[in-house]
Amino acid sequence: MDIRTGNGYDVHALKEGLPMWLGGVRIPSDTGFVAHSDGDVAIHALCDALLGCLALGDIGHLFPDTSDEWKGIDSKILLEKVVAIVHEKGYKVGNVDITIALQKPKLALHILTMRQTLAPILGVEEDRVSVKATTTERLGFVGRCEGCEVWANALIMSE
Ligand code: MG
Repeated sequence: MDIRTGNGYDVHALKEGLPMWLGGVRIPSDTGFVAHSDGDVAIHALCDALLGCLALGDIGHLFPDTSDEWKGIDSKILLEKVVAIVHEKGYKVGNVDITIALQKPKLALHILTMRQTLAPILGVEEDRVSVKATTTERLGFVGRCEGCEVWANALIMSE
């Protein structure tokens, strides 16, 4: 069996009055992410982790923000496309682990919904989808509520 791992990282700026999407879930918030797509920074980092497993570059390369095709797109569709690539290459997802750094709102109540939303797209059970959230204790750009930072790791294995 061939096993591969990858990591992904993404940042989006916060702005008042925009919808906040994280991990495929609409989060009630006064602020949302500035982006060409729906701004789901957690899914973007996850896509990059999966692409990283296969050394296929990043989602900016696959879905350029200069293209109208991806304007305002639901990032779950981008994830579906990336998972399809993983399958085409002869692999399936083993597990993923996502860490979201956001000062507010608190995400604890939404973590399970994110896992339940992402698992079927990834083709795995919920216990293979980890989502963790932290504040940065008011330090840095995350702490000043200027943006959100996400790290993701993925493991894929040959089918
Ligand atoms: Mg992004």
